[in-house]
Parts: sequence; structure tokens; C-alpha cells
Amino acid sequence: PCIASTHEAIGRTLMVGSTGFIGRFIAEASLDCGRPTYLLARSGSMYPSKAKTIKTLQDRGAIIINGSINDQEFMEKLLKDYKIEVVISAVGGENILDQLTLINAIKAVGTIKRFLPSEFGHDIDRADPVEPGLTMYNEKRKVRRLIEESGIPYTYICCNSIAAWPYHDNAHPSEVLPPLDQFQIYGDGSIKAYFVAGTDIGKFTMKSIDDKRTINKSIHFRPSSNCLNINELASLWEKKIKRTLPRITITEEDLLAAAKENCIPQSIVASFTHDIFIKGCQINYPIEGPYDIEVSSLYPDIPFRTVGDCFDDFVVKIIDHPLENVVKIVDKQVADDGITTSNPMVDVRPITATCA
Ligand code: NDP
Repeated sequence: PCIASTHEAIGRTLMVGSTGFIGRFIAEASLDCGRPTYLLARSGSMYPSKAKTIKTLQDRGAIIINGSINDQEFMEKLLKDYKIEVVISAVGGENILDQLTLINAIKAVGTIKRFLPSEFGHDIDRADPVEPGLTMYNEKRKVRRLIEESGIPYTYICCNSIAAWPYHDNAHPSEVLPPLDQFQIYGDGSIKAYFVAGTDIGKFTMKSIDDKRTINKSIHFRPSSNCLNINELASLWEKKIKRTLPRITITEEDLLAAAKENCIPQSIVASFTHDIFIKGCQINYPIEGPYDIEVSSLYPDIPFRTVGDCFDDFVVKIIDHPLENVVKIVDKQVADDGITTSNPMVDVRPITATCA
């Protein structure tokens, strides 16, 4: 159940970015809670896989509204007409600043009880990645400051890494099988990070939006059972696939060089990978102070899926789709969406690389 005694009953929720990687988990969790869920979808960018996602969510009861958040007049009308009370944004890295217009619309309407901007990663006021990740963080910081200045009630979701093999060149790692040939180990592989299942990112995000204790706070996802270093991740995956794989080292210099190439989005991921697995940005600060809460302290009785559970899901995909079939699935998707990829994807979405 989503409503508990410490929770206020909040209703109509507008989700921006539900066709995206993180947004879909949140839209599904919203529907799981039985909430009135409104999805804003841009009609201009409907790849077949996105149209399918929208149809699936619509079949589950979501109400679809076509439009973009960077039209303030439209957004104000939408928020008023549909009596929206909660807005959750999961726009992607290249659209972070579109949220400035959305925030101005939320401020003008004045009835939104909670806004969650597109965060869903590190505490961007604490982490300090090299470029080009830093530019994205500066944009996310700008969004935070405007929310705070506008007096809009907010919650920042700092959910750390999604549970998957942390490829340093892929923004959506849980759509890719963990390695079947060799592991790339960052540095000495000893720096820990938190790996959270996408479904749990959705579930705990939805719990927090109804919770009075999370108003104007950063919620940090640090479940102790999901704290692993990359050597431990590799050993866990080896147990699941019942074979050992060679390990090669990706040094700090390698990651910095990949970041410096400024190939977007891969170099952004390389800069975050450096921040996580070399600098320890997920674990190098205590959660204390009036504006920070750890999610397990809020909901101590609700377990997180373990990384082992998530790896089991990948094993099932290998069994269901031996590698040659996985490649066939990718080929079909590429033909459908007109995109290219070299990774053994289970499902793929377009990633357009641009290099400076
Ligand atoms: P995606 O690029 O996969 O999806 C972005 C979504 O936002 C799409 O649905 C897109 O719609 C929508 N969108 C973008 N601009 C607008 C707009 N102006 N109006 C309406 N909708 C818009 O994003 P990600 O899921 O990769 O990223 C979401 C957040 O999650 C980011 O803050 C990112 O940093 C974070 N993240 C965290 C990860 C982790 O491991 N913790 C991993 C990946 C991301 P359309 O379909 O029309 O393009």
C-alpha cells in the first residue's frame, strides 16, 4: 500500500518522461499504487518501442496527454485542467533545462503539493564529476536552485546506480546483459557503490511523494544489502552464469580519456563511472543534516531487491534468448527504430552519440 499514517493522501500525478529508461519504472509504480496517473508524451518523437510503452501504460489505466514541458502556457493549463497535485519529471540528460519552464508553470499555478525534478542518480550538490558530467550536474543544480527559490515543495531522489553491470559507455546499463566474454574492472575494483533495481527506484519514489517526512529533502537510496564493489559484482555474475571470465583493468587514466573524448552520452557516463568507482562519490559522505534522509530509515520493513535477484533476471533472458537470438532481437529493433548499437541489448532505445 502507498498510503500510511505518516502519509498525506495525494492524488493526481503527472509523470513527464514515462517513455524513458527511468521514467517507465516510475510510471509503472504509480499505476501499481492505483494512483490517477497522467503521462505527458511528446508526439514528435514516437519510435515504435516508445509507442508500445505508451500503449502498455495506457492499457493499465494511464491517461495520455500530448505535449512538451517547455511550453509554459500549455503546462499551466494542463496542471489546472487536470487538477494535478504531484509532478514527477524524468526527462533525460539533454533536456534537463527544459524543466525551468515547467517550474515556472508550477509556480504560476501554485497548487502543486510536490515536485520531483529529474534527478535519479547522485546527490548533485555533493558529487563533483569531471566534464562532461559536470555540465549536466550544473544544469541539475540550476533546476534545484529555481525550485527552492520558487518555494515549490520538492523531493530529490538520489537513488545511486541502477542494478546492472555498470558499463562505462552506456547510459542505460540495465537494458544490456552483463558481460559474457570479459569484465572491465575500474581501478582496483574495490570502491563500493549502491545498485538499486529499477522497480525499486519506482516503488520507493512513489512512496516518498506521499510522505510528509520527505518534503524539501534529498532521499538517499543506500540499502546495505545492495552495496557492492565491482570485483564483488563480477564474482556474483560468475556464480550466476557458472563460469569464470577474464578481468581486464580500466584505469583512472582510461576513464578520464574516455570522458575527455566528449562523445555524448558515452563520455558523460565515463565521467560518472570515474566519480563512482575511482573517487567513491556514492559513499564518501555521511547522510546527516536536516535535508537528507536514507530511504531504508523511512521504510525499514520494506526490503529492496538484491543485485543477485536482478542478475537472475538477466540469466533468464540468456536462457530465453541464447546469444544469437538476442542479436536477432537487436537487429529487428534496429530495423524498427532505425538505430544502431553494438551491444547485446535485450531491448534497445535510441542513443544518439555526438562527439565534440
Ligand atoms: P531518457 O532519455 O531515457 O528519457 C527521457 C524522457 O523524457 C523521454 O520520455 C522523453 O520523451 C522525455 N522528455 C524529454 N524532454 C521532454 C520535454 N521537453 N517534454 C516532455 N517530455 C520530455 O532519460 P533517462 O531515463 O536516461 O534519464 C532520466 C533521469 O534519470 C536523468 O536525470 C538521468 O540523469 C537519470 N538516470 C539515472 C540512471 C541511474 O543509473 N541512476 C541511469 C540513467 C539515467 P520522448 O520520448 O519524447 O523523447
